[in-house]
Order: sequence, then structure tokens, then C-alpha cells
Amino acid sequence: MSLNIWHPFTQHGLGEPIPEIARAEGAALYQADGTKIIDAISSWWVQTHGHCHPTIIAAIQEQSAKLDQIIFAGWTHEPARELAEGLSDFLPKSLAHIFFSDSGSTAVEVALKMALGYWHNRGDARQKILVMEHSYHGDTIGAMSVGARGVFNQAYAPLLFDVGTIAFPEAGAEQATLDQLEAFCRDSDSPPAALIVEPLILGAGGMKIYSPAILAQMASICRAYDVLFIADEVMTGWGRTGSVFACEQADVEPDILCMAKGLTGGVIPLAVTAAKDAIYQSHLSEDRARMFFHSSSFTANPIACAAANANLGIWREEPVQQRINGIIASHREFSNELKRKPNISGLRQCGTILAFEIDDGAGDYMSDLYMSDLGPLLLGFFRDHNILLRPLGNTVYLMPPYCISRGDLNTVYAVIEEAIDHFRGC
Ligand code: PLP
Repeated sequence: MSLNIWHPFTQHGLGEPIPEIARAEGAALYQADGTKIIDAISSWWVQTHGHCHPTIIAAIQEQSAKLDQIIFAGWTHEPARELAEGLSDFLPKSLAHIFFSDSGSTAVEVALKMALGYWHNRGDARQKILVMEHSYHGDTIGAMSVGARGVFNQAYAPLLFDVGTIAFPEAGAEQATLDQLEAFCRDSDSPPAALIVEPLILGAGGMKIYSPAILAQMASICRAYDVLFIADEVMTGWGRTGSVFACEQADVEPDILCMAKGLTGGVIPLAVTAAKDAIYQSHLSEDRARMFFHSSSFTANPIACAAANANLGIWREEPVQQRINGIIASHREFSNELKRKPNISGLRQCGTILAFEIDDGAGDYMSDLYMSDLGPLLLGFFRDHNILLRPLGNTVYLMPPYCISRGDLNTVYAVIEEAIDHFRGC
């Protein structure tokens, strides 16, 4: 007898089919019988260059035969050193220190602990974390605490810490968000330790987009009041928004930057939290009580670091930006088609990410995000058409790997149009 496998974000009580994938290549997933499924969301936003990129796979194979794992507390290895050197070409020079972990959630936990450690070690009692409405930063307790509250974390509410929440800067109401941020920063009774945001686009919270100008202004308010600015680039990093990191578009150098997913090309788990010198220096001492108290067993796993080094090599040697630009242009063309559809709204694009809502007759889409009855129907529709798309309720979004062919993109677009027409009047 086999044990039951409990899948993430899956209501097994609904008896949803769980298809099995046997192999993958580029933007395609294949079932054992040869059925091809186009991966239009990069397998939960992780894949950047496509599945089983030969350079990354070769690096993993080579490294795993040489050094598989070594404790990283008090020890180091060449793939980690190489990655530290390589990442300096991709990050602002001010982010001079990197700390490894294993997932987006842990990168965020590390960022929050660095921020609190910074203030604690300086003898300042700042503890409050500011967050943006509708944010998602992961599913561990700290990451959930700084994310939106809702049905998905209601049961765990007693474990979550309090935060200060600024409104999402909706078009036309941006100033109110900035004023709110400034009011929090000015509060001398409870001065904030840090603000954490997803730059330019909020992912799981509904693919909600705001402008680089607002990102820049939020960063500058934080700087003015000595509040640490944390950029969670777990989704946006590695090209999704059109630049390697979203912060580049706003000319923002955050105090702390979190990355994961695309760091290894999305092949194997690895995360980095990069920090400015002041944050590192606040932990640097001859006093062991001031060290950064964080670790996990697989911190900087050599195989994962080798995969990340291969990813950097692909960025340097292959026309990655050109591929990204191709997707951006082709989404734009498709958007023009979509504008003709009467039953969609909120059409928006941020780099390689395209999103919109299909009218489900339920009104304000944010109120039914995830819980919209249309969500599972759309999921099933796309699955039946051999497309991996996983709408957030009635919010459909595309986030393909950069290697996707024009032909595959067109297939995805056609199925999306079919879905919009199919569910018209729902
Ligand atoms: N932060 C953001 C912005 C994310 O989109 C995600 C995951 O989607 C996370 C953090 C959590 O990453 P992980 O699922 O690797 O823990």
C-alpha cells in the first residue's frame, strides 16, 4: 500500500484530477503517453530559460559527482564563491553581502530577521514591519505575517505578527498610499523597522501592477525616515518584468533584496537575500551574541549553487533579453486582440507577465480572488486543452519561460480566447 500524497494548495475533497508529468523540455511538459502540455506559467514562476536547459543540467550533473553537500556554517566551497562573484555583475554594487537559503519564503524570513537584527544590534527598539495590501511573500509564518490576510491564512492567525499595512497604490490613488507610508514612518511612538514590497507587480495577490515612479517614491520616503526598504524579487527577479530585477526600472537600490525561483533558472531550489553593508556591519562584532542567527541544513548547497552559476552563464551568453523582448512584444499584440472581448477587464502587462479578469458576474474581483467559482472551471478548461495555466480565481495570467516559441505562445493565446468566449455570460 502506498501513502497518500497531500498536494500543496489542493482541495483533495473536490476530486480534481492530478495529471502526472514524465519529462519536460523547454516550455513543454510531457505525459508518459507523449501528450504535450505547454507550461505557460513557468511551473509556478520558477522556470526562466525553460525546462531541462542542457547547461544547467550538465552543471548539476558535474557538481553532484564532485561535492554534493557540505555544512555552510564555518565552511565554504567553490560554487558558492563563484556565485558570489557572478551575482555582483547582476546586483547593484551597494548590495555587497549575500546570505543563502532554499526558497522564496526563507529568503523573506532571512530579510525580516536581518532587518530586526540590524535595529536590535544598534540598540534601537524598532520592530514594526510595513507591508503593502494584497502582498504575498510566502507561506512560512513570518512570510505569511507580512502577506495579505485572508481565507488562506485565517486558521493560522494566532501565529502571525502585527504589521502596518499601506494601501495598494491604485491608479489615481497613489498619493494616498505615499501619504500613508509617510505617516507610518513619521510615527515616533512606533517607528517602523522596514517596509517590504513586491516591486512593480504583486504576484499571488492578483498580478496587480504599479509604476516604477511609485516604487521610487516609496524607497525615497523610507530612506528619508531611515526605514529599511526590502524588495521581494522572488517572482519579479530574473527577467520577469523586462529587466533582470524590477527595482532597476525605478533606479532603486533596496537595503535588502530577496531572490529565489529563477536564480537557478528554476531547476533546483536556492535563494539569496542580499544586503547592504550597514546591515552586515550591524551584525559584525567580536561578540557572538550579535551574529546573524539563521541557518538551514542545505544553506548554499553546492549543487544548487552550480545550477545558479550555470544560470548566470546563460544570461551572459544567450540572447535572454532578446527572448524576453519577444514575449513582451507578442503579449502586446495579443492584448490588442483581447481588448475586443466584452467579458474581460483589467487587461495589464508588466514585462513578460500578462493578466486580466474574466467577468464572472460576481463584481469586484479582489473580493473573490481565489474563491471565484470560475477559477476551478478555468483551470479544468486549460488542463483539458493541454495548457498549464493556473488562474488566481477569475484572474488569468501568463508568465511563460523565455524560450517559449512563437508557435506555442500562439497556441496558448488561442486557448485563452476560446476560454474567454466559452465562459461568456457565466
Ligand atoms: N515572495 C514572492 C513575491 C512570491 O511570489 C513567492 C512565491 O510565489 C514567495 C515569496 C515564496 O516563494 P517560495 O514558494 O519559493 O517559498
